[in-house]
Amino acid sequence: MAKIKKTIKTIKIDADKCNGCRGCEIICSAFHANPKYSSNNPARSRIQVITNRLQNKWLPVFAGEYTAAECMGRDKYVIDGKEYDECDFCRAACPSRDLFKEPDSGLPLKCDMCEDDPPQEKPMCVQVCLNDVLVYEEREEEVEEGVEMEQVEAGVGSLIDKYGLKKIADTVARLTQKGSS
Ligand code: SF4
Ligand code: SF4
Repeated sequence: MAKIKKTIKTIKIDADKCNGCRGCEIICSAFHANPKYSSNNPARSRIQVITNRLQNKWLPVFAGEYTAAECMGRDKYVIDGKEYDECDFCRAACPSRDLFKEPDSGLPLKCDMCEDDPPQEKPMCVQVCLNDVLVYEEREEEVEEGVEMEQVEAGVGSLIDKYGLKKIADTVARLTQKGSS
């Protein structure tokens, strides 16, 4: 299979520097509002700061893949004497919780690195974080052609299993209409 170059975009998270200001959540939701910046609602953000004020814990987590089934077992982490709750580090939109789901439709949210036209120099959450918690990095990798479409098909298949073909088709039609207006 032919190889193609792919840009891997990474945000390094220095969680110890986070003070829980939630600026990242606000800008993410505003950037993805339609029209852009017309509203903000941190519940729609693709980054969530997992918070426990009593234990001085602030953990920024980015929305990752949708999963149709919750984990059969759970893990707990203790780092620097602080115990993190089950699922705190998990990026999935999953049936066991409301995190990383569109509040109105329940459809899963996923960080898209602020894809834009023209492209942003850095993702919006990185730009607004004044404490340098979020550091953006890019690198090139060679991948096999065709692998990306397989991933897209697997993701769409999972969404259809979960929400049904009609709901997904209606959502795509709505988004396409907004995009062309
Ligand atoms: S903007 Fe930075 S400091 Fe504020 S909550 Fe987000 S990651 Fe933490
Ligand atoms: S990179 Fe963009 S889409 Fe991802 S969490 Fe940050 S602001 Fe949201």
